[in-house]
Amino acid sequence: MGQYVAPIRDMQFVLHELLKVEEELKALPDYSEVDADIINQVLEEGGKFTSEVLFPLNHSGDREGCHYDGATKTVTTPKGFKEAYKQYVEGGWAALACDPEYGGQGLPVVMNNSFYEMLNSSNQAWTMYPGLSHGAYECLKEHGTDEQKKLYLPKLVSGEWTGTMCLTEPHCGTDLGMLRSKALPQADGSWLITGNKIFISAGEHDMSENILHLVLARVPDAPEGSKGISLFLVPKFLPNADGSVGERNPIFCGAIEEKMGIHGNSTCQMNLDGAKGWIIGQPNKGLQAMFVFMNAARLGVGMQSLGLTEVAYQNALIYAKDRIQMRSLTGPKNPEKPADPIIVHPDVRRMLLTGKAYAEGARAFTSYVALQIDRELHHPDADVRKEAGDEVALLTPIVKAFITDNAWIATSEAMQVYGGHGYISEWGMEQYVRDARINLIYEGTNTVQSLDLLGRKILGDNGAKLRKFGEKIKAFVEENGLDENLSEFITPLGDLGEKVTKLTMEIGMKAFQNADEVGAAAVPYLRVVGHLVYSYFFAQMAKIALEKQDSGDNFYKTKLATARFYFARLQPETATLIRQARSGSANLMALDADLF
Ligand SMILES: Cc1cc2nc3c(=O)[nH]c(=O)nc-3n(C[C@H](O)[C@H](O)[C@H](O)COP(=O)(O)OP(=O)(O)OC[C@H]3O[C@@H](n4cnc5c(N)ncnc54)[C@H](O)[C@@H]3O)c2cc1C
Repeated sequence: MGQYVAPIRDMQFVLHELLKVEEELKALPDYSEVDADIINQVLEEGGKFTSEVLFPLNHSGDREGCHYDGATKTVTTPKGFKEAYKQYVEGGWAALACDPEYGGQGLPVVMNNSFYEMLNSSNQAWTMYPGLSHGAYECLKEHGTDEQKKLYLPKLVSGEWTGTMCLTEPHCGTDLGMLRSKALPQADGSWLITGNKIFISAGEHDMSENILHLVLARVPDAPEGSKGISLFLVPKFLPNADGSVGERNPIFCGAIEEKMGIHGNSTCQMNLDGAKGWIIGQPNKGLQAMFVFMNAARLGVGMQSLGLTEVAYQNALIYAKDRIQMRSLTGPKNPEKPADPIIVHPDVRRMLLTGKAYAEGARAFTSYVALQIDRELHHPDADVRKEAGDEVALLTPIVKAFITDNAWIATSEAMQVYGGHGYISEWGMEQYVRDARINLIYEGTNTVQSLDLLGRKILGDNGAKLRKFGEKIKAFVEENGLDENLSEFITPLGDLGEKVTKLTMEIGMKAFQNADEVGAAAVPYLRVVGHLVYSYFFAQMAKIALEKQDSGDNFYKTKLATARFYFARLQPETATLIRQARSGSANLMALDADLF
């Protein structure tokens, strides 16, 4: 069923040549010992684990799905998932980027990021179990009490226990201000929580000894709306003081959903019937605390889509070299055979290069964001930490929405390369398309991400964060603007930067008159800014590739060709997107709802 080989050469290019990670980490005392050898070793070992252990379970996990037993209210994951998780825990993978104080290996986020790409390429559904645990770890580490951290973090770090995020209820997903779950205070400082949550990923399963649910609920007399939400830690089994599991807590899975993709991951209805929990952070400040989890998850969803883009591309490439069909328009390339391999056809190449460019753009972009997170958390200078944090905040909705939209395109193109065989489940390509689709929806739909970017992150601070990031692009353009060899990359980059500035000001002005202008422009606007970010990274990668194209290493020739394809074929969609964003709200709002 296809194959997956971790793209280690490209990961090394991004980490060592583009981002110069080793040098950057030297400035962070906690990571000053992390050198290229350690990074390369983790990439090699991660590549082996993911392709040998997880990838073989991807297709079978999709076919089999999860099983729910109504009598015991338990979920069994597909064959092999549990055993693979055991290997993951024993290999120490869960602890990779966690704090040594809680048993972690203390490695940087930027390394974990590459590992997560591999995990997601090999098996997105499986990866959601440990992926959510990592978000729970981050949330608890930032907002938990010392006592909570001591009791729970070592279990999440080792992977013995997993985590979930319980936000969604039947009547509210995007608008969490409407949630109804209730928490009543108890004399011993705990809370009793009652309510129904739906769509909870990994809410019940058989892979770990215990599950820590992070649940949003309302305390008595909480203000209406999102200002009245609190966050609680609700373990499946109440822990004993020594960390062993004790009594079963009444938080049960009532059913699992039948769904389009990620069949190996349990999507659970969770019923809390007076379940015991402990508050995380302050009452009514739960949404702020949960945002740590949500931001981690948004970046994680971007990584899911990068993983799918890469694996779908890899398999489509193998197929395109092997499948013979028709002759090349410029004459036979394979005269001894009855037809040429389909990779000779220009449009098959377009489909393949779309996947390749979107994977490589996303790899450079997400690795950069991960490095910024390391700087935000570990740089000794508070100003640098603040600046890095602002950049991460600005770029997070772009990671979530731009990469997931692109993966939907790229996996669909990869399926198309297979012709009819792509639609047949035996080849595995249709699974990638199905799995990729959820990534546009959960963790805040891509529309919601676009509103967050344009409304909150950009117009909300008068464009300050965007300007700051834009200064980096401007400096790069000025530094390289006179280099004729680079003009094919620098000119469209500089041009798009100016257009984004103008577009942002124009929408900002219109929004003063009519708030719907933001909602009408946000989705195409995010794609335009996404392309600005990719243009910046592809121009930098092209510069390195140009310098090394005569080195004898074909990697650089390929990189250059990919950058050229990106600027010629993908980036130009910004012209249409800008027109759409500028077209205003009237063409959307003209009809009364009953005239549709
Ligand atoms: C497989 C799966 C796994 C999930 N895992 C989890 C999980 O682990 N934990 C959890 O808590 N939830 C989870 N979810 C829920 C998921 O996060 C929500 O489905 C998502 O946030 C959207 O909420 P909703 O489904 O209620 O859609 P709605 O909020 O009803 O939205 C419907 C449509 O309206 C649009 N819309 C809403 N408001 C606006 C607005 N202001 N402007 C423009 N458009 C708007 C939305 O973009 C969307 O297109 C999961 C869902 C699925 C399907």
